[in-house]
Amino acid sequence: MEQTRTTAIVTGANRGIGLEVCRQLAGRGLRVVLTARNAEAGRAAAAALAAKRGGEAGMVEFHPLDVTDGASIEALAGHVRRRWGGLDMLVNNAAVSLEGFNPEVVRRTLATNFFGPLRLTDALLPLLRDHGRIVMVSSGMGELSAFPRELRAVFLDPALGRESLLELVERFGRAVETDTLRADGWPRSAYRVAKAALNAHTRLLAAELRRTRPTLAVNAVCPGWVRTDMGGRWAARGVAKGAEGIVWAATLPAGGPSGGFFRDGRPIPW
Ligand code: NAP
Repeated sequence: MEQTRTTAIVTGANRGIGLEVCRQLAGRGLRVVLTARNAEAGRAAAAALAAKRGGEAGMVEFHPLDVTDGASIEALAGHVRRRWGGLDMLVNNAAVSLEGFNPEVVRRTLATNFFGPLRLTDALLPLLRDHGRIVMVSSGMGELSAFPRELRAVFLDPALGRESLLELVERFGRAVETDTLRADGWPRSAYRVAKAALNAHTRLLAAELRRTRPTLAVNAVCPGWVRTDMGGRWAARGVAKGAEGIVWAATLPAGGPSGGFFRDGRPIPW
């Protein structure tokens, strides 16, 4: 088992911001596990990155991961345990932004953008070494200013626990199915709700880690509006700038913040 090098896992890294995060982390001398649900695309992306880095063995490796698939998550966790005994950074980057608004779009969006990072983090947390860093790649679209006052208060309630957060997300799903979104004032966007819920989970997890593993840090990061397949060609930022704030959060020194929401290394409102 090889343990010595700092190891980072990045999800949804065959293209876009995730790929650039891998490039920047590898540039800092880390071992990067580039994961993707499409094995062919992931393997090609990892090989291209490794080649750019002079083909140094073990710097950028591909491992398959579909964040919506429990077996795929378990397989990755098993691989990390056997191969390196643990990891140092987890960047939950994978997400979808789907066209339309209907129960299927909502189900797929929540599965990828909220439950995916939640379950992957649960599976890898026991393997995270001291001073490990978790980054939830979120979005300004999840800011609670887009939600009515009552819902905002529920999301921000200091008494909100994991179970009640999961119930809240289920309540949204039910409201979509029964076409009663208006009653609670939910936005007609699963992407917004998923990112707001991911942010809430970041706060809850940070509070838990403060008690149980105080050297670990978890933060949510908005990369800004970035030119990728998701952000579109008119977005203001290139991937390098979008990835910088994520890499900043993934490499925070001891004593750095935990439980915050950042863009470009600066706090932004929930
Ligand atoms: P992107 O270009 O659409 O890339 C998304 C990545 O996620 C792809 O690699 C995709 O894989 C992967 N993915 C989707 N579902 C997955 C699953 N079930 N399992 C594993 N991987 C999966 O998006 P991006 O712009 O780079 O976005 C990266 C992150 O930044 C996302 O969390 C996004 O919400 C956030 N963000 C982006 C912007 C922006 O302007 N671009 C703004 C705010 C926040 P496939 O190639 O297989 O589809």
